[in-house]
Amino acid sequence: MEQRECRAMAARDPVCGMPVDPATATYSVDIRGGTYYFSNKLCRDTFVEGEKIAYFSMEIGLESDIPTYSGGLGVLAGDVIRSSADLFIPMVAVTLVNRKGYVRQRLTPEGDQVDLPDEWEPRGHMRELPERVTVRIGDANVAIRAWIYDYWSPVGGLVPVFFLDTDLPENTPDDRGITDCLYGGDQEYRFKQAIVLGIGGARMLAAQEIRVGKYHINESHSSLLTLELLRRPGMDEEKVQTHCIFTTHTPVATAFETFPREMAVRLLRGEVPPELLGQYVGDNGLALATLAFRLSRYVNGVTTAHMNFSQRLFPAFHIRAVTNGVHPHTWTSGPFRDLYDRYITGWAQEPELLVRVDKIPHEDIRHAHRQAKQTLVDYVREKNGVDLDPSALTIGFARRAAAYKRAALLFSDLEKLREAGRRGTIQLVFSGKAHPADAAGRQEIRRVHDAMHDLEGEVTGVYLENYSMDIAGLMTAGVDVWLNTPLPPYEASGTSGMKAALNGVVNFSVLDGWWIEGWIEGTTGWAIGPGPGAPVSEAERRARELQDLYSKLEYLIIPTYYLRKDEWATIMRSSIAKIAYYFNTHRMMRRYATEAYL
Ligand SMILES: *Cc1c(COP(=O)(O)O)cnc(C)c1O
Repeated sequence: MEQRECRAMAARDPVCGMPVDPATATYSVDIRGGTYYFSNKLCRDTFVEGEKIAYFSMEIGLESDIPTYSGGLGVLAGDVIRSSADLFIPMVAVTLVNRKGYVRQRLTPEGDQVDLPDEWEPRGHMRELPERVTVRIGDANVAIRAWIYDYWSPVGGLVPVFFLDTDLPENTPDDRGITDCLYGGDQEYRFKQAIVLGIGGARMLAAQEIRVGKYHINESHSSLLTLELLRRPGMDEEKVQTHCIFTTHTPVATAFETFPREMAVRLLRGEVPPELLGQYVGDNGLALATLAFRLSRYVNGVTTAHMNFSQRLFPAFHIRAVTNGVHPHTWTSGPFRDLYDRYITGWAQEPELLVRVDKIPHEDIRHAHRQAKQTLVDYVREKNGVDLDPSALTIGFARRAAAYKRAALLFSDLEKLREAGRRGTIQLVFSGKAHPADAAGRQEIRRVHDAMHDLEGEVTGVYLENYSMDIAGLMTAGVDVWLNTPLPPYEASGTSGMKAALNGVVNFSVLDGWWIEGWIEGTTGWAIGPGPGAPVSEAERRARELQDLYSKLEYLIIPTYYLRKDEWATIMRSSIAKIAYYFNTHRMMRRYATEAYL
């Protein structure tokens, strides 16, 4: 919103951020359907000819109305773009247009998820480029066009995002649908998407005459771009490596998808010479992650724990850690933005300054939080017709409904939960979509609904339909406690708890992913279950998790919230000072810039 208003008032030089008046600007360029203004010639030349970082991601979450994301990976990609624009990192991004989105979720009263397409129209959000590129997929030439979305930072930086689209009359009906459904269809469909994203995307940037210095492969879906680079004149494996950065997000060996050899060879043979195919497609097929590992000089995991896991799985590669973050301005609610603006000038551009949050009096923090909570209470009344009590301890849980996230873990022992609730009122706000083909995820949503029905009259619970970035923003700011109960080590990072911390919301989480680095018991929140690497059996882990869940809720969290209000405000403040100041994409992108891009 703000940045659109800002654009209407004055143009900015996208390279240096200087305000320029389009009416009098000496330096401008018409390129890719847009007109850009510069304060001097060097900026214009840099904009047109300078090397760019090309950030490739199968999903990107720019706004709720552009449903081209399924969860944390896409929202992280959006935050990467937002922070890069804020920091004037010369980046372009590439993804698929996903005309039918991911999935629009309807829920029956029993908690059965009904899957609807989430169709959207790129026109109106972005502009179409006239150029076409072609990739050969099996025996077909598939034409690709691109839509361009200019993400402007309020400070003037710009990241153009290319949305690739095969819905063109020259393609067969099947091929027109390749860029329809995020993570949809069968394995062959997803492999075709990988070809369009990786090979088509690299080719589209070349067609735009964009000089790419580094290709950042955000999760392995786009790693076929390495094969496209290998075919360029003067390229060999080592040279390609110097151009490629691979960020892995996968925590366990079984989650790395391998495409069958027959399929990979059949679909790629029109593009990739047999000797190259032979080198990279093994007898057991093609794993996109292996390709990315082999052809990237810089490889990183998304938390320290995830780096360690990945290093054990892939001992042949040097794997580093760049811990994830969230975009500070995007994920800070209005009331907290105002508060930070008042006390901590410059926080959105330099979120490290949040370390000084102790300057803000408790009462002001409580007041900002009450406002954010009221916004959530109003939303819940409007959508679910349920009146939450704004003074009651509110626990939030929202993320993709994948089984490993264990949305229903809190409801394992309803009697214990009721008992905690008798000590002080608790109310629950949940949300999250399951992948349409994920039966276990759908089951988890049903379990939460069943439990909420059973608890009626004792513990108020609501499940918000069709989880989105907007709902994530409302919830991570409007609840008091942010609950996170993944099964270790499946949560490579997780980011929603970082959004909560920016808003003074307190984390209560299993020790997995980022929380291992953010957690200080009783200071930044509370842990659930044993620490990472503890030699416990599955049954023992679960027992200790449930023990912590219910006893910390009953004896620590509820009494602190209701009886020791100053202590609670201190913990809120520590969430901001000791979590939010660090777990943000500004710090993360400065690290990528200095360690991987330069
Ligand atoms: C932040 C966010 C996520 C990531 O949540 P995790 O708890 O890290 O899995 C998923 N979906 C949406 C819409 C988000 O905004």
